[in-house]
Amino acid sequence: MVKIQFLKSQIPVRKIINRFKMWDLVFGIFPSIFVKIKYQILEDKAKHQGLRNQLVSILEQKGITDKNVLAAIKKIPRHLFLNSSFEAYAYQDKAFPIGAGQTISQPYTVAFQSQLLEVKKEHKILEIGTGSGYQTAVLCSMGAKVYSVERQNELFKKTSNLFPKLNIRPKHLSFGDGYKGLPSYAPFDSIIVTAGAPFIPQPLMSQLKIGGRLVIPLGEEVQIMTLLIRKNETQFEKHEFGEFRFVPLLEDKN
Ligand code: SAH
Repeated sequence: MVKIQFLKSQIPVRKIINRFKMWDLVFGIFPSIFVKIKYQILEDKAKHQGLRNQLVSILEQKGITDKNVLAAIKKIPRHLFLNSSFEAYAYQDKAFPIGAGQTISQPYTVAFQSQLLEVKKEHKILEIGTGSGYQTAVLCSMGAKVYSVERQNELFKKTSNLFPKLNIRPKHLSFGDGYKGLPSYAPFDSIIVTAGAPFIPQPLMSQLKIGGRLVIPLGEEVQIMTLLIRKNETQFEKHEFGEFRFVPLLEDKN
C-alpha cells in the first residue's frame, strides 16, 4: 500500500482522501446548506408579491374594504411567517399549522379583525396570541404600536427572533397569560384576541380606553366574532359578526 508523510504520522492515501471529503462537507456543502436555510427563506420575490396581489383581490371580493388593511396584507410577506415547507400555500386564504399545536390565522380572519379594530396611526394595540407574528406584523405595518402576549414559550421565542430579521418592530412582546392582559402598559386604544375565548376576560375590558374597541372571537367549538366598544367607565356596546374558527385561548400555562 502507498503511504505518504502527513504531519509526522503515516496515513494511507485512502484515509487522506476520506479526510478531504469530510472537510469538503464541513467547509463546502454544510455552510451552503446553512446559508440557504438562513437566508433563502427570508427572500421575498416578485412571485410572492404577485401572489399577495391576488390574495388582496380575494379579500376585497370577500368584503374587506379598509384600504390600510389591504395595503398591509399586500406588503407583509406571509410566507416568511410559515414553516418553509408550507411556502406554496402561504397566499391561499387558509389557516396553517405553525408548531406547538397552533395555527397562523386565515388571511381573511386577520383582515376582518384588523378592519374591526379601525386602526389609526400611533394607536396603542394589545394583541393576545402572538403566534406566528403575522397579525402583529399587519398591525405594525398599519402604523400601530403593538403590544403582544403569547403563552407558548416556543412560539414566543421563535417569533421574537423573526421580527428583527424582517425589520418589524412591535413595541413590546410578552410571554405570559393573555387572560390577564398587560396591566402595566394599559390603557389601550384597542385589543385583539386571536384565539377562541370561552368568555370575555374582565382584565381586557378594564384595560380598554373609553371609546376603545375589543375584538374577540367568543365560543368553544366555533366562535362568534364579537366587538365591544367601551362607552364609559361601566358600559360597553356589543356587536356580533358571525362564525369563525380559532384555536382555543388556554388558561393554564404548559
Ligand atoms: N395572531 C396569530 C394567531 C395564532 S393562533 C397569528 O397571526 O399567527 C392563537 C395563538 O394564541 C397561539 O399562538 C396560542 O399559543 C396563543 N394563546 C392561546 N392561549 C393564550 C393565552 N391564554 N395567552 C396568550 N396567548 C395564548
